[in-house]
Parts: sequence; structure tokens; C-alpha cells
Amino acid sequence: MKDNIVETENQVIANTYSRFPIVITKGKGCVLEDVDGREYIDFVAGIAVCNLGHSHPEVLNALSKQAGTLLHVSNLYYTVPQVELASWLVKNSFADRVFFCNSGAEANEAAIKLARKYFSDKGEKDRFRIVTMKKSFHGRTMAAMSATGQEKIRAGYEPVLSGFDFVPFNHLEELQKAVAPDVCAVMLEPIQGEGGIITPEPAYLEGVRKICDETGALLVFDEIQTGIGRTGKLFAYEHFGVTPDIMTLAKALGNGLPIGAMLASESVAESFSPGSHASTFGGTPVITAASLETLKVIERENIVDRSKEAGEYFKEKLLLLKNKHKVIEDVRGIGLLLGIKLKEPGADIVNACMEKGFLINCIQENILRFIPPLVIKNKEIDSLIDCLDEMLGSR
Ligand SMILES: *Cc1c(COP(=O)(O)O)cnc(C)c1O
Repeated sequence: MKDNIVETENQVIANTYSRFPIVITKGKGCVLEDVDGREYIDFVAGIAVCNLGHSHPEVLNALSKQAGTLLHVSNLYYTVPQVELASWLVKNSFADRVFFCNSGAEANEAAIKLARKYFSDKGEKDRFRIVTMKKSFHGRTMAAMSATGQEKIRAGYEPVLSGFDFVPFNHLEELQKAVAPDVCAVMLEPIQGEGGIITPEPAYLEGVRKICDETGALLVFDEIQTGIGRTGKLFAYEHFGVTPDIMTLAKALGNGLPIGAMLASESVAESFSPGSHASTFGGTPVITAASLETLKVIERENIVDRSKEAGEYFKEKLLLLKNKHKVIEDVRGIGLLLGIKLKEPGADIVNACMEKGFLINCIQENILRFIPPLVIKNKEIDSLIDCLDEMLGSR
């Protein structure tokens, strides 16, 4: 069965992923099961997606209830779950309005379009440039990729969309220089995820906000990875006392169902009017019902606080490992967006952990990333720490 699936995948699926040689068939809570019945504790969570764990009963219930009532209608009509989900997001964030789409890249597309439209509406059609960060990741569609500050992601697709400038993260002087009068927005992840879990230095994001305020450029936070409780606050911007004008969400917003959202303050959102932008599936009832239930569970069960506590516990254990193993150069991140930078490539350790029943992933060659469901238990964290201790001890 497993060999058959792997072989067929090699023949019929576009060759865009290098996959680990396991076929996953089931998930419950923080545990995944493969086709051979082997279990794995999941420290990847679909890449910061399944924050409530797999097969969460209440999310499943909301999903199947809505699926049996109304799966989809066009945005030509009003639906209850879409409006309720937007209301929840507006109530719990800086934003006044929400545009729904189906993925992170699409949320960033909407943000890029809105930033340009905002100045176009003001009669400043030449004000279209967007400054983003080196090592950023904003997605794989043409505009989101063009906004991504990593050569390897844009390679082969030139000419990419014009109008993007890149500056180093955590460097206010370079940003100041880059934000010329033709810049409509500064777009960044408050904590860089794919780039290596790079946290902002104290006062950096305040400085970014100040540069935007002084020049009139909009501030866009890509919270696709950091949002929905991942960092121990509902949104990462809350750690830094800095509010953006536009924020994008996706990943954990649907606990595994495909959904993206672009949130904006009223004065900015005003630039979208009927016909400005659209998505057939954006905000479709079945997905928004499941997403709303996800957020209600997070609220009711204080999952954001749990993320903070579990993250502190986990990070302390990682710091102890660092004291013990010289191969660990750095422990980084907040909440349950954590990583350790190794002095050597991390792929072997990821494979060895998988053999022992733990899924982790490695980014930027030598950074092991830990992004489990926010409901991960201390004893599950302990078991991974013991595994890593053993792995690292033998080198
Ligand atoms: C994953 C991610 C994206 C892209 O989301 P997709 O749903 O894969 O399009 C964009 N920005 C950040 C910060 C991400 O982590």
C-alpha cells in the first residue's frame, strides 16, 4: 500500500514537493497515524495550521452540520457564517473589515491590491511600490512571490511583478532610506517564519510604524504564520504594541480547512468597493462555519494562554538542551513558534526523529522548527526533548 502510493505519486503529482517517505492516514489531537499503523507526535501541525490538533470534535461537528445544511452559495448573497466569522475577527483585532479568500498567498494578493488601490483612489497612481523584507515569505502566487525576499523562490519566474524593494529585517535605517514618496506600503511578518524564526528587536516594529506614519505608507502585517494564538497572543502584533493598517491571516484560521483573510481598518478598507476584488469560494459557508467554531473553541478554552505557557515550558527545555549540546547555536521564537539553529544541517535529525515517532521540520538548512498544535501537552514536549537529547548526544 505505502510503496504503491509513493510510486504512483511520483508519476501523477507535479514534482513540487520533496516528501518524507510516510503515508499519513489519520490524525487525532497531536498524534498522526500512517498507513502501517505507526504513530507520530506532530510538531509540524500542517505547518502551523492545526492549532486545535487533528479531528477536533467541535470543529468537525460545526463542519458536518453546515455541510448538511448549505455548502456553498455565491457571494452574490448574504450568508450567516461568513458574517459571524468576520464579526468575531473585527471584535478581536484592530480591524474594521474583512475580505475572505482561500489561502495565505491570496490574502497577501488582496493586501497588495488594496494598498495600491488606496493611493490610486487618492489620485496618487504612481505610488505603487511596496517595501518588504529580505528572507521574508509571503506565498507562491505571482504577486506574493514577487513580495517574497528570497531569490530561490523567485528564480526562473522572471520578470516578476515590478514595484517591490527589499531591506534587511531589524534594520530601521535601511527601511527609512527605502520608503520613498512612491512607496504605498511596508509589508512584513512581525516574526519571520520561513526565513528562520527571526524575532524583531525591541522597538523595531514601533520604528517601522513611525516610518509609515511619517511617510503615509500603509503598514501590512503578514500574520499568516504568527496569527491565531501561535505566539502566545491571538495576533503577534499584540506583543509589540504596534497596530498595522492591514493584516493577512490564513494557516490556522480554519484549523486545517482552506481559508485566508485580509483585514483592514475602515479608512483603508474603504478603497474596496463592489467589483474591486472577489473570490468564488472566499468566505463560503462550510469553511467559515468551521473557522468560526475554531475561534470559539480557542476563546472558550483559553488556548492562547495555553500556547504561551506551553511555549515557555518548551523554550526552557530547549535552552537546557543548548547548554548541554554544543551543536546548538541558538534557541529562538516565542509561544509555540520555536526553533533551534544548529551548527550543521538538520535533515538527519528530522529523519531520525521521524524514525522515533516525532514529526518536526527543518527550515533554511539548519534550523529545526517546532510548531505543534497549541494543545500540545507538557509530557509530549518532554518526550520530544528526550528524543532530541539522545539524537544530539550522539554527535
Ligand atoms: C504559509 C505562509 C504564506 C503562504 O500561505 P499559503 O496558504 O501557502 O498560500 C504566506 N505568508 C506567510 C508568513 C506564511 O507562513
